[in-house]
Amino acid sequence: MQFIVRGISQELADEVRRTRRAPGYGHPAHLELASGTGPCRCCLEPFVVGQEERLLLTYRPPGDAASLMAPGPVFIHARACRAHAGEGFPDGLRELPLAFEGRGAAGRVAAPVTGAAPPESQIARLFADGANEWLHLRHAEAGCFIARIERAAVFDLAATG
Ligand SMILES: [Zn+2]
Repeated sequence: MQFIVRGISQELADEVRRTRRAPGYGHPAHLELASGTGPCRCCLEPFVVGQEERLLLTYRPPGDAASLMAPGPVFIHARACRAHAGEGFPDGLRELPLAFEGRGAAGRVAAPVTGAAPPESQIARLFADGANEWLHLRHAEAGCFIARIERAAVFDLAATG
């Protein structure tokens, strides 16, 4: 099946780099040398530990009227990077411990799925349940939000190339 994985938007990441503040909350974003692989929630690539600088901020994923989306801590590259685009699962995430959480109507949250199965099969299994409208990808150990996964509409992909 076709799907898209999206971290935080280019605009929001650039705003945090410019203001050094968490959007919507206003407290300072914390700059540090990467002590873990992350990943960066903008480009969805792991950090180079001990070499790359990153910004820690509070982020609340967009939801819908029926879902209360919990804010949480996320990291982005301190330097400029390009937000992940395109379809399919980002290769940069494959080595990380991942949990897939089904989200849908009326704030429904399905139990996270973890395990050794390839991301594509875990995503397909959750979307086979029609009640899961979108998925949240989380770090299976830290629990934090990494990205939102949606079914890809063929016409959208054609339009964006
Ligand atoms: Zn990045």
